[in-house]
Amino acid sequence: MQRFKLRSFITALALLAICSVSFAQSVNLEEQKWIHGSADCSVNTDDPIQIVQYNSNTWILRQNKCTHFEAPFMYLFLGKEKALLTDTGATKEQEKFPLYKTVRRLIDNWDKEHNTSMELVVLHTHNHGDHKAADAQFNGKARTTVVGLQPEEVASFFYINNWPDENVTVDLGGRKLDIIPIPGHQESSVAVYDRNTQIMLTGDTFYPGRLYVADWASFRSSISKLVAFAADNPIKYILGNHIEMSVNDGKDYPMGSKYHPQEQKLPLYLTDLKELHEALNKIGDTPKRDIHDKFIIFPVR
Ligand SMILES: [Zn+2]
Ligand SMILES: [Zn+2]
Repeated sequence: MQRFKLRSFITALALLAICSVSFAQSVNLEEQKWIHGSADCSVNTDDPIQIVQYNSNTWILRQNKCTHFEAPFMYLFLGKEKALLTDTGATKEQEKFPLYKTVRRLIDNWDKEHNTSMELVVLHTHNHGDHKAADAQFNGKARTTVVGLQPEEVASFFYINNWPDENVTVDLGGRKLDIIPIPGHQESSVAVYDRNTQIMLTGDTFYPGRLYVADWASFRSSISKLVAFAADNPIKYILGNHIEMSVNDGKDYPMGSKYHPQEQKLPLYLTDLKELHEALNKIGDTPKRDIHDKFIIFPVR
């Protein structure tokens, strides 16, 4: 009996170990250090793209601030049949910013290991220059589709009939992602929710930085929509496209800065989203700049 119990216990442990391999979290995003530029970019030796493997089938990429001050983050999700990349960064030239080569290598390695031939879909979190600059590196490549930049093109690609009020689900093969239109920062803005990791990507709509709001009413309803979505879907991390806040509460780096020595952490949480939501409700219909510890509401019109 004793021995049987021990054996069952060992089997359970082994099963747990096997199960945890496929969903293992390889990095702790709370502690993750990101390349953050240099005071003198002429002596910067960081790679043009930092590659962080989040778990077995998810990568987070960050552009070097010395190649472009925007230093956007890009995310790569792999399913069994398709890969989804969000955004193509802030620099066009392959020599300075080899994004296609980097992503291709990750996918090719996966294909080799799993005997697959993955299709790549490149989606933009929105239509701003610092998130689409390297589109040309992907255009015309085999097994690669770059989704259009206008709201109608995004809607048509994902079969969204009622933009921006309808969310849709895409299946990468055993991995479902929700695409949620969230205009306000820009009219093509979308959030992406990965059901496997419970990560929500919010692009430039919500991140540790200056939340530039072009259309106040749309922005308010998009944030309400994300809060409502979160009521039905667990959120582990909310990840955006930039970091512009320092660790000193409410203090942002100057616009255009190529050196962020003490950046705020990348992940935000549902409590932060709720803080934004409440602040917007309090401000009401008239746009107003509002400084918080981790973000700044920053109307631009
Ligand atoms: Zn941006
Ligand atoms: Zn933007």
